[in-house]
Amino acid sequence: MQKIQHTSNLYYTKPQVELAEKLCSLTGFKKVFFSNSGAEANEGAIKIARKYSFDKYGKNRYNILTLNNSFHGRTITTLKATGQDVFHNYFFPFTEGFEYADANDISQTLDILKNSDNSFCAVMVEIVQGEGGVIPLEKDYLEELYKYCEQNDILFMVDEVQTGIGRTGSILASEHFDIKPDIITLAKGLGGGLPIGAVLTNSKTEAVLSYSDHGTTYGGNPVACAGASVVLDKVSNSLDEINKKSAYIIDKLEQIKENTQEIKSVSGMGLMLGIELSTKQAPDVLKECLEEGLIILSAKTKVRMLPPLNISYQEIDDGLSILESVLKK
Ligand SMILES: *Cc1c(COP(=O)(O)O)cnc(C)c1O
Repeated sequence: MQKIQHTSNLYYTKPQVELAEKLCSLTGFKKVFFSNSGAEANEGAIKIARKYSFDKYGKNRYNILTLNNSFHGRTITTLKATGQDVFHNYFFPFTEGFEYADANDISQTLDILKNSDNSFCAVMVEIVQGEGGVIPLEKDYLEELYKYCEQNDILFMVDEVQTGIGRTGSILASEHFDIKPDIITLAKGLGGGLPIGAVLTNSKTEAVLSYSDHGTTYGGNPVACAGASVVLDKVSNSLDEINKKSAYIIDKLEQIKENTQEIKSVSGMGLMLGIELSTKQAPDVLKECLEEGLIILSAKTKVRMLPPLNISYQEIDDGLSILESVLKK
C-alpha cells in the first residue's frame, strides 16, 4: 500500500503482472483483464463474445444464452443476463440479446441454439447456480452443451464469480468437468475481501479486444492485485484441506439429518452447499441462526452455506451445532 496505490491505466504495475501470470499458470488460460467486481467481469466477457462474433461473422450474431435461475450481476446488462424475471423490473429498457434455457435440460437448451438462425455468439453458465439454489449442472448436460458450442463456434463462458478460487475444491469449478471454456470470469473469492474481478481468455479469445476497445480506471488496482496474489498462493496450497472440510461438513449434516428429520437433501460442491429443508422455512432458520451467532444464507427455498475457505474445524463444529439446535426446535 505504501509503494503504489494507483497508476493510470495506461501503465501496467508489477502486482498486476504477477497476479495475471499466477492465474494463467494455475488455470491454463492465456490472458487476463482485471475489473473491480463480478458484474464488471461479466460485462467484459459479454463484450469479448460479441466482438469475437462481430469480427468473424458480422453484425447479427450477438445473442447470448444463459440459464433460468442464474445470477450474473446487477448492471443493466448483467441483470438481463440473469435468468430470473424478478430481476427484469423497473430499470427498463434492458440490454437486448439474451435468451434463457433450463439448466440440465439438454434437448430444450440445444433446441434454442439450433432454432436460432445462427444468431448466438455465446453461452454463459454457472457450474453451480449459487443464488439460484446451489444447483450444480449435471456432468452430461455441461459436457454436451460444451461440445455443441465448440462445434458451432459459440463461445462457452463460465461465470465463476462465486464458484472460482477454491470454493468447490479446485481452483476453478469447471476443472471438475471435461470442458475447456473460452472465457472464465472471477471475482468474489479472488480478492479475499478486496474489490477485484477478472476475465480469463484462452487462445481463441485472447486477441479479441485490443488497445482502447475496453478499459477500467481502478480495475487491476495494485493493492487489490497484491492481495489477490497472496490469496491465490494460499488457496492453491489448501485445496486438499478444503475438500476434507467439505466431506467433514457433509458427514455432519448427515448426522443432523438423522437427529432432526429437518434436512431433505444436501446439494453443491466443496464449501458451497445448499440444504433442502423438510418442513421449516429457510428465512426462519436464518433468523434463528443469526440470533444464536451463526451467519448462514439462503438461496431460493434452501439454506445455503458458504463458509470461509480457512474456517477451522472448531468453527465448523460450533456453527453446525447451532444449526442443529435451530432445526430441532
Ligand atoms: C456475486 C455474483 C456476481 C456479481 O458479482 P458482483 O461483484 O456483486 O458484481 C455475478 N455472478 C455470480 C455467479 C455471482 O455469484
